[in-house]
Amino acid sequence: MKLRKVTAASAAVLALTLSATACGGGDKDSGSGGDKVKVGIKYDQPGIGLKKPDGSFSGFDVDVATYVAKELGYEPKQIEFVETKSADRENALARGDVKFIVASYSINDKRKAKVDFAGPYLLAHQDLLVKSDSKIAKGADLNGKNLCSVTGSTSAQNIKDKIAPSANLRQNPGYSECLAALQSGSVDAVTTDDSILAGYAAQDKFKGKFKLVGEQLSNENYGIGVKKGDKATVDKINAALKKMVDDGSWQKAVDKNFGPAGYKNEPAPKIGVIVK
Ligand code: GLU
Repeated sequence: MKLRKVTAASAAVLALTLSATACGGGDKDSGSGGDKVKVGIKYDQPGIGLKKPDGSFSGFDVDVATYVAKELGYEPKQIEFVETKSADRENALARGDVKFIVASYSINDKRKAKVDFAGPYLLAHQDLLVKSDSKIAKGADLNGKNLCSVTGSTSAQNIKDKIAPSANLRQNPGYSECLAALQSGSVDAVTTDDSILAGYAAQDKFKGKFKLVGEQLSNENYGIGVKKGDKATVDKINAALKKMVDDGSWQKAVDKNFGPAGYKNEPAPKIGVIVK
């Protein structure tokens, strides 16, 4: 009798575990003590997506994600942020690990074959971060030089395809590793979006050491990634983004997150309009 009871209890626990797992990044997950939504962000990009030592999060993407989540019916305390590195983003959405991704995620055709995008919500440009006394002044100067970028990023792909095909490109999972390499002198430049590089250059520990070259090497239209085919969520997120711009919250988030780094961003993009 006693044994049967235990078995039934274990079965119930197992069922709960299974249903919680099945929910994944998905909708209302009432199995784990309240409704939660899982949102993918970056953890190591100051000004964009940063996990601070106290466990809290900051950055423009975090503020956009928080606003969007609210419009989808989730209060800030119901958001569970999950790290989605550049190379992991498409898979995280396909697996259902997260409901949406706000992680300096450029919209392009290759990615659109695997995921859907809402937005764009920011237009950035690929640039170079170099030591303050560096002579590197344009993309082509990188040929033959040691360069660092991130696996699965458009930044790395652009270097290989057009900007400097004979640069010695090192690829890391995150940009923070590239910053360490630039500081130690093992690479001559780090390349990614100006929005990200500005945040690094402004950090206390790097102040005065690095500069942005100021080349606009590409147009990076940041979108919010969702699972392929989830048109309902794309539509809801687009409505939220439009509202965020219209009610002034977008500009507030820009001032708060890009102001300290002195990053001069482009005006708010129009939903559905990609700058090529
Ligand atoms: N926006 C570019 C991309 O989506 C570079 C930044 C990043 O790696 O997140 O790949």
